[in-house]
Amino acid sequence: MNFIEEIIEKDIANGKNDSKVHTRFPPEPNGYLHIGHAKSICLNFGIAKKYGGLCNLRFDDTNPVKEDVEYVDSIKEDINWLGFQWAEEHYASDYFDQLYEWAERLITEGLAYVDDQSQEEISKGRGVPTQPGTESPFRNRSVEENLDLFRRMKNGEFPDGSKVLRAKTGMTSPNMHMRDPIMYRILHSEHHRTGNKWCIYPMYDYAHGQSDSIEGITHSICTLEFEVHRPLYDWFCEALRIHHPQQIEFARLNLSYTIMSKRKLLQLVKDHYVMGWDDPRMPTICGLRRRGYTPQSVRNFAETVGIAKRDNVIDVSLLEFCAREDLNKVATRTMAVLDPVKLVIDNFPDDKVEMLNAVNNPENPEAGTREVPFTKELWIERADFRENADKKFYRLTPGGEVRLKYAYIVKCVSVDKDENGEITAIHVTYDPETKSGMPASNRKVKATIHWVSVNYANIAEVRLFDRLFAVPAPDEVEEGKTFLDNLNPNSLTVQQAYIEKSLTLANVEKHYQFERLGYFCVDKDSTAEKLVFNKTVSLKQ
Ligand code: ATP
Ligand code: MG
Repeated sequence: MNFIEEIIEKDIANGKNDSKVHTRFPPEPNGYLHIGHAKSICLNFGIAKKYGGLCNLRFDDTNPVKEDVEYVDSIKEDINWLGFQWAEEHYASDYFDQLYEWAERLITEGLAYVDDQSQEEISKGRGVPTQPGTESPFRNRSVEENLDLFRRMKNGEFPDGSKVLRAKTGMTSPNMHMRDPIMYRILHSEHHRTGNKWCIYPMYDYAHGQSDSIEGITHSICTLEFEVHRPLYDWFCEALRIHHPQQIEFARLNLSYTIMSKRKLLQLVKDHYVMGWDDPRMPTICGLRRRGYTPQSVRNFAETVGIAKRDNVIDVSLLEFCAREDLNKVATRTMAVLDPVKLVIDNFPDDKVEMLNAVNNPENPEAGTREVPFTKELWIERADFRENADKKFYRLTPGGEVRLKYAYIVKCVSVDKDENGEITAIHVTYDPETKSGMPASNRKVKATIHWVSVNYANIAEVRLFDRLFAVPAPDEVEEGKTFLDNLNPNSLTVQQAYIEKSLTLANVEKHYQFERLGYFCVDKDSTAEKLVFNKTVSLKQ
């Protein structure tokens, strides 16, 4: 049980909120969700599920300039893909009328005022934490004047930046967020939902807690940077005498070799450093999906990481471990050769096609078996043969033996080379008595290698990925450099591969294990003529 669950269980035991649990996930629709959001989603939806409660999806759409419906749609798709259903779908912008009415109430009660100072003057007036700030010269306007000015702000009489509405919390708190914080700013900007109805927009601090309150949220879970905002969250709920949810903070997820700021991820997309938000190297949920991660593997990762009270950095290899662990259970096995060299079985009949039985998934008997054609000429990996090998090399060598998976033991008899000395074919003989599963087949060979029949192979494109960033902390940069300088120039390699013909029917996002090579999935760029595969992760770390 983590510390958040401890708080919740205590509240349930004490009958707080009638012992109900209602959480929310509150993304700002200004970008695609990433693995950090996945952590927050698993936490909020997971808690609601565990305690028989509800979790809302609320779009925190109070900044019209950066927000877009494209992001709203992608966020919903990603949450569903992760396997969660929200109880209610809300938008902070749906509460603009209510928030406005409450703002007038605070003005009437002498708890808010219109300030004509510039942004700079306001910041300067706040001063430094160790000394009280300076009060605004507009702080003591009458209620009537404030109401009149605020209504005229709403009616569009003033230009952007000319006035703000501030809460009267005082100018002495050592917490700078509590020095007469701004509640509303003027922004003559069209909103993706409310259109041109509003030209004043509430600030995060004035919108968030009240939105939680309106929805009857009981536990408002957020990341640590909001800890210093909590006194203000509480102040507004108290001043307005409305339902008061409890804000609880936890440490945000940070991953090595990864950037999680939406602004920076957007820059990677806009400036074409990646193929898009769903580039398989991106830490976005849609990127992980395209890369071949399963929803289960992402949920397992969130669970394994746990909930912390202090910021820390999780090794990205833990995420890869979670992918591997789940894919081992669900991925269909198949054979593919990424760096081919021809293997010719000299004593195998020229036109013979022997159908061999291959297991689709040893972890899941229900996945069944398939037939794989075995012929005289096969593709094998170039790295599985070595002409001058030492004793530690167990695969094919001149005069040596190896087992071909699901098939026979073969012995290398000669190699063909071109004028440059490059190997063009490896000749072997096979022993018909050594077929997999036959009694005589327990003859000892040190290695089993995979293969694909030359006559029955399709060509595919395979995309191999390395980390997008070359350094563990891409955000840490020397003076004059940016996170872009930490990009790994070799994060994408494209290869042609031979794959089993059975893969022609593969669906996009279907998961495969290319035997001995790693986990792969079918990319959306695939066509009927040519499949494209993304490497999700290697078989071992
Ligand atoms: P930005 O990158 O623009 O600062 P953000 O990460 O704060 O945005 P929001 O859309 O405001 O993104 O986040 C929605 C919710 O997801 C918030 O409750 C936020 O605390 C949580 N969240 C965001 N990033 C992480 C993270 N790395 N780990 C855990 N939770 C996160
Ligand atoms: Mg945010």
